Parts: sequence; structure tokens; C-alpha cells
Amino acid sequence: MKKVAFHTLGCKLNFSETSTIARLFQENGYQKVDFSQPSDVYVINTCSVTANADKECKQIVKSALNVSPDAFVVVVGCYAQLKPEEISNIEGVDLVLGASEKFKLLNYLNDLQKKSKAEIYSCEIEEANFFVDSYSFGDRTRVFLKVQDGCDYNCSFCTIPLARGSSRSDTILNAVKNANEIATQDVKEIVLTGVNLGDFGNNSSKEGNRKQETFLDLVKELDQVEGIERFRISSIEPNLLKNETIEFVSMSQKFVPHFHIPLQSGSNKILKAMRRRYMRELYSDRVSTIKSLMPHCCIGVDVIVGFPGETDEDFLDTYNFLNGLDISYLHVFTYSERDNTDAISHTNVVPIAIRKKRNKMLRILSAKKLRHFYEQHLGTTRTVLFEGDNKDGFMHGFTENYVKVKTPYSPALVNQLKDVVLKELDADGSVLVDLLVEEFVS
Ligand code: SF4
Repeated sequence: MKKVAFHTLGCKLNFSETSTIARLFQENGYQKVDFSQPSDVYVINTCSVTANADKECKQIVKSALNVSPDAFVVVVGCYAQLKPEEISNIEGVDLVLGASEKFKLLNYLNDLQKKSKAEIYSCEIEEANFFVDSYSFGDRTRVFLKVQDGCDYNCSFCTIPLARGSSRSDTILNAVKNANEIATQDVKEIVLTGVNLGDFGNNSSKEGNRKQETFLDLVKELDQVEGIERFRISSIEPNLLKNETIEFVSMSQKFVPHFHIPLQSGSNKILKAMRRRYMRELYSDRVSTIKSLMPHCCIGVDVIVGFPGETDEDFLDTYNFLNGLDISYLHVFTYSERDNTDAISHTNVVPIAIRKKRNKMLRILSAKKLRHFYEQHLGTTRTVLFEGDNKDGFMHGFTENYVKVKTPYSPALVNQLKDVVLKELDADGSVLVDLLVEEFVS
């Protein structure tokens, strides 16, 4: 059996797509091995958001060829769509596939002989206008289910629409079929993923023969799926998170009380320069609506620091806005110039040192918010999905409202949903728990 190994960079969407491509290899007689092992083919699924995508990709190719110098190396993903030539010049790469070709990878594998010059099969991103469904399986306790791809927005700092194309999505029928398929594999939690998830169904209006479907329609249908205990919405734009969706989640037994909502800046001036589609008032409205219906709900926030033109006052605006919001944690990104974006030509560039300082300040704020959120729930009973890790004799899991917990490792708990009492904060930032004993014994 020929061997194949995968390495994925970037978002949940990339992990779901790598997993689907891996299943195609296995269905065609390949044995999947760990990336650190000798292999005949190495597939690297890249990301375009990370600043050092090129350096990272070079290192990963090198590490693969250190193990198997004659292996056939394939690079796919967002970086491959944006910079195929650049990747083809990386020593050891044999094949570069763009967004529309990555799922047909097996068609490009012939004799697996290494190439003196990498072959590129890519297209203009406008041609990658069809939806290919995918879901991750086997690598993690929670499964990432892709239901949407691409984006029609044009935030001035973002390359994703250039790498993934226009917004398009699965049909509800097929998404439910995939969820049912996943349910047969002893999976308890599905994380819905996409590029602009809330825009689900956007293309249904473009394709005349398709019934208009919305994100809320999808959520309602998935809520009926048997065998899946939890659905988690990975990330959703604030202007696309409708109050009806929040209300539905607040009453659902399956959609968990956890929203991750990109804000990017707490300054309306900077939001305008970023070409975001809302002002901060809408964002705080969403947070108040969520907290009024689900006080225990976890709210995660994406924020970018150091965007061109961001003065100390603008940054303080963001800091104070976030500090005043009832949110749970932040994902803090430092603005980095990306080719072919509008923001790269913006003036008033913020010095790197300032960007780093602002990033640090928001990470400290995030730690404070998370600690406060966890402390609010100490003494309460929650349900945890335990994962399979065994770190120094302890295993971890997440409650429905995304509190990270830990308990002594027990194989019987792996991939199990258990009721626990949140006891106390542990030094590593997770929460120690008491399992509700009577259930454990049984
Ligand atoms: S919504 Fe904006 S930031 Fe998000 S993928 Fe689309 S263009 Fe990029």
C-alpha cells in the first residue's frame, strides 16, 4: 500500500477539507500515516492569513523530505491559490493545486516521480465557484462540518475572498445527510464551519432553480438530527447573526450557548476603514441580546490591532469598548500587510513595536475576561464532552458554554458527555471538576 501523510495549517475549514481529501486517498488504497513518518506522498494544506505562510511552508516541506527524500510533495490550500509560482519555487515541491483542483488531487498523481520543477494546476479564483462539501473525522473528538465556502465581502485587510472565491454553500438536504452520516460514527459534537458562515444560502438565490435557504433554516433542520448531542457555530459575522438565530439557540437542546463573533475593532472610524459592515453599536446590541437570553453564554471576539491609521485614541476606544462588553475571551491578531488588499496602500502605518504592544494589552484583557467568565460558573453543574488527551495524567474537555475543564485521565471518559460540577480554577487556566459520581459509577 502506498502511504500518504497530511499537514494542515489554518482554520477549521482547512482541517475539514484535508480530512475529506484523506478519505479519498484511503478509498483509493492509500494508507494514511502521521506526517512525521516515512511516506510516498506528503500533502500540505496551507493558509493565507498567517504572516509567514511562505517560511512555514518551506519548513514543513523540508521536514517531510528529511524523513522521505524521494517522496512526492503536494501543496494545496489558500496560499497555493494566491501564490502558486512562489510555492513552485520551494525546493522539493512537485505539485501545486489551486482552490478548484484540490479535491481532484488523486487525478494528478501518476508515477509519483519527483519533478525537477513543480507542476501548477490552478485557475482564476472566479472559476472556483462551486461548493464541495467536507467534514473532518478521526483526528479530533469534535467534527468540523463545512457548510459554506468563500466570501462576497471585501474587508480591506483580507485576502480570503481572493483565495477562496465568492460565497457559496451546501444545500440543507446535503448538510443534514452529512450530519446523519457523522452521527453513525459515535460523534457527539459537530462544529459548523465556513468562511462567512452566516451567509449560508446566499448562492441559493443566484442559482435560479434552488429554493432560498438561510442559515437559520439550516440550524433548525440540523437541530432535528438524531445521534448528535451538540452543534457549535464556529464563527459568525455580527451583522449576519440575526436575533431569531440567537433566540432559537437559546431554546435549543443541541445548539450550544457559545458564539464566536469577529469584531476586528471597537473604533467606528477603523471599522469604516476596514470596510466592515456594521458599527460597534450593532455589536454591543448582539452581545446584550445574547446575554439577556443566555446569561451563561460564552462569547468569543476576534480583534485586529495596528490597522493603518489606528491612533492611540482609536486603540483606547477599542480597549474600553471591549472592557465594557460582557464577553468571555478575545482572539487578538496583529495587523499584517497582505498583497492585493486595499489596506496595504493605506497611509499612517502603525510601527510594528506599537502593534505588538497593543496586541499584548488585549491579550492581558482577554485573560482577565476569561478568568471572570470561568469564575462566574464555579459551583454550577455543566455537561462536558471529554477529549482523548492524557497530559500528565489529566484529560480535558469543554462544557456546552466552552469552559475548558480537566480531570484525572480515565479511558472510560474519552468522547463521553458527563455532568460535572465546576469546582475551582487550576493553575493552567482550566477548571477542575467533580464528576457527578452516581453517573460515573454506572
Ligand atoms: S467577512 Fe471580511 S474578513 Fe471575513 S472572510 Fe470575508 S472579507 Fe475576509
